[in-house]
Amino acid sequence: MLQELGKTSQTNSLWYGTQANGFLCYKTMQIRLTVLLLIAVLVFNGCTALEEAQRRREKRILEERNADSLMLRPSKATIEIGTDGLRSVSDHYTLTFAEDLHGHPQFDNAQKRAVFAQSALGYMESLYDAMNRLFGFQPKHQIHVRLHDIFQGSRLRAITTTHYSYGPHMKSIRGISMDFPLAMYERHGVRAHELTHAFTNIYFLPVWFSEGIAVLIQTEYAKGGTHPKYDSLKRDLRVDLDGVNELENWGGHGEGGPLTNWRYRYAYTVVAELRERYGKNFYIKVFQLMETDALHQRLEDRMPTSFLVYYLSKAAGEDLVPFFEELQFKVVKLTKEDILKYIDELHHQIRRRP
Ligand SMILES: [Zn+2]
Repeated sequence: MLQELGKTSQTNSLWYGTQANGFLCYKTMQIRLTVLLLIAVLVFNGCTALEEAQRRREKRILEERNADSLMLRPSKATIEIGTDGLRSVSDHYTLTFAEDLHGHPQFDNAQKRAVFAQSALGYMESLYDAMNRLFGFQPKHQIHVRLHDIFQGSRLRAITTTHYSYGPHMKSIRGISMDFPLAMYERHGVRAHELTHAFTNIYFLPVWFSEGIAVLIQTEYAKGGTHPKYDSLKRDLRVDLDGVNELENWGGHGEGGPLTNWRYRYAYTVVAELRERYGKNFYIKVFQLMETDALHQRLEDRMPTSFLVYYLSKAAGEDLVPFFEELQFKVVKLTKEDILKYIDELHHQIRRRP
């Protein structure tokens, strides 16, 4: 497109040079007028093409930036506010005010609740779209968001729960809920962290990986991080008395204790390191591979780390067992046959249970 403009501009300046000479008969003028018109059309087309190219380029840059920052676009979702404003529904969510907020000065009448719900659901739908663009998948179930003043005795803990049901050979998701104390809901990073769980819980991931991904999204995309990365995976490693990486003993969100902060930070550092090595789309590939095999659904519980490392290695195109061994994870190299055999034995045991 730029080359085209260069040619057109050159022709244009030549024409004005000739006109300055002043030797123009009628015929020549006619020819030159035609040429002028032709050039004018060419210039116009050139400009249009250039503008079009420029617009496309700007749009592409903007889209790339959006993917980097979870920049939100207005959502097209439908939002229906309940008459008392206590429960509202949108395409991907329901939003409910828990009883301890009914008398709260911010929400003590239907109109105040309705205004808040309209804006909260609009925002959450936009965040949902951004997350969908980022991961390339979305949960099948509507997410039930409940707002509290205090949840489980705390104003500082937001929780996402994925409810499963277990069939004879397969577990499936029954529903997803998110509980936010109001003080937590008001933090953008926390909403992004919890929504990441709502998306990735589909794959029944090991706790450390699930939290690592959630902190990565919260920190690098939503710019709301409270757990900075460590400089060195080696230097900041912590192991238990068996010499195993302390990430492997993590019960998850609900678990407090002196190691909690280290666990969030270290899990994030591991997840970020792999993305750094294998590229921005690394985790999209990992989730696609899991989705294709659908083996996670056939486990009774969360997937063990070795099972996850099988998929990470496949997406990376090289064996990542040595990487995890160096970080003192208890992992073995698995083949798909090993995983299938393990699942068959598991189901055999389940069938024999009294
Ligand atoms: Zn979390």
